[in-house]
Parts: sequence; structure tokens; C-alpha cells
Amino acid sequence: MLEIRDLSAAYGGPDVLSSVSLEVKAGETVAVLGANTAGKTTLLRAISGLIPRARGHIAFEGTALMGRPAHTIPALGIGHVPEGRHVFPRMTTLDNLMMGAFFHRGARDITQRIERVFALFPRLKERQGQMAGSMSGGEQQMVSIGRALMGQPKLLLLDEPSHGLAPIVVDELHAAIGAINRQGVSVLLVEQNAMLALSVAHRGYVLEAGHVVLAGTSRQLAADPGVKRAYLGV
Ligand code: ATP
Repeated sequence: MLEIRDLSAAYGGPDVLSSVSLEVKAGETVAVLGANTAGKTTLLRAISGLIPRARGHIAFEGTALMGRPAHTIPALGIGHVPEGRHVFPRMTTLDNLMMGAFFHRGARDITQRIERVFALFPRLKERQGQMAGSMSGGEQQMVSIGRALMGQPKLLLLDEPSHGLAPIVVDELHAAIGAINRQGVSVLLVEQNAMLALSVAHRGYVLEAGHVVLAGTSRQLAADPGVKRAYLGV
């Protein structure tokens, strides 16, 4: 579904991604683990066309993404939930969700799409009239994921969804990511929380200083001594 080959990227200085190759097959949840500054956010931004200096090959369902304007990517079926959530703080939860359907304004099933998001996150239904900026961090994360789901993506890019959230909220997120995947959406999950990532993903990659240094099933990665030491605190 998503194929990345020899992807390198820079912001004007040295490469922050070097010859990264990875793939996500239809129906999979794939994790990318890595410490701060490993290049995880840059990887997702390159897929979404937000890194002008990226080089290499990215294809989504056979369509080449390199050089495509970022605003054309959601319509291909890729939803991006950015690091830091970036909800529209002075808009209600409902209006934030509606913004996710911006590129699908002609769609007649907007109400059904909203109901599907509310079924996944009942808290958003309860708080649909509340300004998103006054919601808790976990609720804002739900808004951000819900907004991306409004575009009915086939592939969801999730950037550190658990960042700064309490363990109980992380559990809720874990359940939601599983449910989204069971509904047929493939997921590329970037996380520093390796425990969360490996418990929800089928496979994963470890990114270090812009290089993929390890790849395997979640079980293999969780058993790897280096991963245990560096990411699982074992
Ligand atoms: P984190 O978890 O801290 O976000 P990350 O693995 O997502 O880390 P990136 O955000 O992709 O890492 O950053 C990779 C490298 O690129 C870092 O050294 C960072 O300083 C640099 N970088 C990121 N964004 C920019 C930018 N807009 N301009 C210049 N350098 C950047």
C-alpha cells in the first residue's frame, strides 16, 4: 500500500533521513520507534509532501507521491495526525471535525462520518459544542484523530499520539487505534512510547539518526535486547 525506498530528507543542513526504506501493507499497523530527533516526524511529513528537500521514492497504492503538492495527498486516502495535535482551539469539537471533511465538501455522508467518529470517541459526542482549546490533552488527541478520520483515509499517519498523556488515556488511545485498524484503516504509528507502539502494531522499524537500524514483527522487536534496553527500559 505504502512503499518508501531510499528516502533521504534535509532541512537545508545535513540529512535527517538517510536512505530510509519501509512499507505498510493494506490492513497493517506499522510502528516506527526512535528517540528524539531520530527523524520520525520528518518521515511522516515527507509522506504528506511537507518536506520540499526530500529525495527518493514514495508510492501510495502505486501513485508516486514525491513532488506532489501536500494539499493533494489527503484526497489519495492518507490522513495525517500531526505531532502536538494542532486542533483549532477557538472552534468547537464539531467544527474541528468538519474541517477534516474540508477536501470532501461534496460528500453526502458527512453526518455518517461524524457519527462514526463519535462511536469511536463517545467523549467527543458529549463535548461536541466545547471549544477544542479547552479540552484535555487526551480529548484534543481524539479531536485530531477524529478530524483525520473525517477524510475516510485508507492510511492514517499518527505522530506521537501518546505524547504527554496520562497512562489511562494512553490505554484509551491504544484501544482506539486497534479499533480504527479493525475497521480496515492501515496505520503508520510513530512513537517514543515503544510499549504502546509494539502492543498495537503488527510490525515495526527502529529509526536511529535518520537510518532504519532494525525491522521486524512487534514480537521480534520487543524481544530484541537493544530495543529492550533503549526503548522498553528493561
Ligand atoms: P521528536 O520526537 O523530538 O519530534 P523526531 O524523531 O520526530 O523527534 P524530527 O522532528 O523528524 O525527529 O527531527 C529530526 C531532525 O531534524 C532533528 O535534528 C531536528 O532538529 C531537525 N529538524 C526538524 N524539523 C526541522 C526544521 N523545520 N528545520 C530545521 N531542522 C529541523
